[in-house]
Amino acid sequence: MELRNARTPPDGWSGSGRVDAWVAARVAAAPDAIAIQDRDRRVTYAELDREADRVARMISARGVAPGGLIGVRMRRGWRMYAALLGVWKHGSGYVPVDLSYPSARQDFIVSDSGAGLLVESGEDGFTTRVPDSAPERAPVPPDIAYVLYTSGSTGRPKGVVLRHGNVLAFLDGVARAFRFGSGDIWAQFTSVCFDISVAETWIPLVTGARLVVVPEEAAGDPAAFQRLLSETRVSILSQVPTVFRYLLDAVEEEGTELPSLRQVLLCGEPVEPHTVLRWLKAGVAPDARVHNLYGPTEATVYATWYELTEENLDPTRPTRPGTPIGRALPHVTAAVMDNGGPVPLGRSGEVYLSGPGVAWGYLGLPDRTSRSFVTLDGGTGRWYRTGDLARVERDGLWFEGRTDTQVKLRGLRIELGEVEALLRTHRGVSEAAVLLTRGPTGDPFLVAYYVASPASGGTEAPALRGYLTDRLPPYMVPSRYVAVSELPLTLNGKLDRKALEGLAHPTTA
Ligand code: AMP
Repeated sequence: MELRNARTPPDGWSGSGRVDAWVAARVAAAPDAIAIQDRDRRVTYAELDREADRVARMISARGVAPGGLIGVRMRRGWRMYAALLGVWKHGSGYVPVDLSYPSARQDFIVSDSGAGLLVESGEDGFTTRVPDSAPERAPVPPDIAYVLYTSGSTGRPKGVVLRHGNVLAFLDGVARAFRFGSGDIWAQFTSVCFDISVAETWIPLVTGARLVVVPEEAAGDPAAFQRLLSETRVSILSQVPTVFRYLLDAVEEEGTELPSLRQVLLCGEPVEPHTVLRWLKAGVAPDARVHNLYGPTEATVYATWYELTEENLDPTRPTRPGTPIGRALPHVTAAVMDNGGPVPLGRSGEVYLSGPGVAWGYLGLPDRTSRSFVTLDGGTGRWYRTGDLARVERDGLWFEGRTDTQVKLRGLRIELGEVEALLRTHRGVSEAAVLLTRGPTGDPFLVAYYVASPASGGTEAPALRGYLTDRLPPYMVPSRYVAVSELPLTLNGKLDRKALEGLAHPTTA
């Protein structure tokens, strides 16, 4: 396996150690190899290392002590990865802040994380800035690697805290499972605010492979994206299933072949078996294997895996409910539990994950952390309760949905409760509910139902959209707004989501 070589620390890397030390081993082994390709710019491992050192020195020069969090708010480009690595070299953890988010959301992330400093794009590549508000620092573990913010059901986003030990365990686990190596070329597609980017960024950089930056305009344009994949000879592609469908449409339309591709990693939301079958039959990438990877941010990117083949997707086989997510990767243990114990074969329950991939917890939220990260009878360690439902089958787990109202929209995690809570803070709204629905072509979008408050004299959709746009990341803002006189309730007074789905609702975003 590529990761274990003479230059890498011999004493196991899932316990102590830092990811940047593994990248340093690659720099020492092959300084002139290309680490990052960003449009026409090719950045060697040595150059990446020098720039990261420069960032680490800039942070130190601002008097920031190691061991805390540093915000990184930069355009996607090769220097952004140098900034992330530089934060690690300084001995701190990074908090990515997406420039496309409204400033209120960006400010929340910066102040909630307690980031003492922000690294931004500047004339000389980088600049550092002290946040406007004096942050309050919640405790963090000493080997903190990053904090990623996910939607929070109570209306407040929560920062998931991951340690270097988590990331190393993950990198080791996937490298062993997939045999990734220095000859690979990875497409870095996902925003650094989501954990799939951890796979797309750090697997290549610890294996001595090449990371190809997918520019924002190509990420939003399947035709341009498939051209980029072909021109840069990408061999490892990670995609969320909905976006993968758009890519397949574009590939078929242009008759592109992707002979360099050897792994397609589908992740982030339920896989679409018919799309994968179409892809396999089209022979777009004859050497590529396709895997479905499942996992929450709280267990470090991917937790389980299942290979999708023409044979196991054969539509003439008896269909089974749900989608196959397979077995645990080496860095986690997966269990399906019901009533406090594991369920037998053929039965469903909630997915629990444990092992070195499981996160430290939620930043500054001890109660929320102790509800989600639990110990079970029998002292089997710490388990993360995913809220996902799965069935145990002979070929591994089958994903069946959620125990709550968290949804995925093009792979992005949204707590409907967060959007609803925010809508209710608008003075023209007395009640609100948000649903994920699909248009006739299968495209998912969010619809907000609201009851206008009597005093408001009527609340118009554009006002609500503007209100949410000022406060939420773009992907969380519903596309449609429907005024209703009341929300349907169940007998015990809770929102009746099934009845809401039954109401006439918009069919297009
Ligand atoms: P995130 O933390 O953004 O990675 O989202 C994690 C959640 O996405 C999981 O708890 C699942 O609900 C969902 N998810 C991730 N991967 C898959 C998959 N392969 N199949 C079905 N659902 C998935």
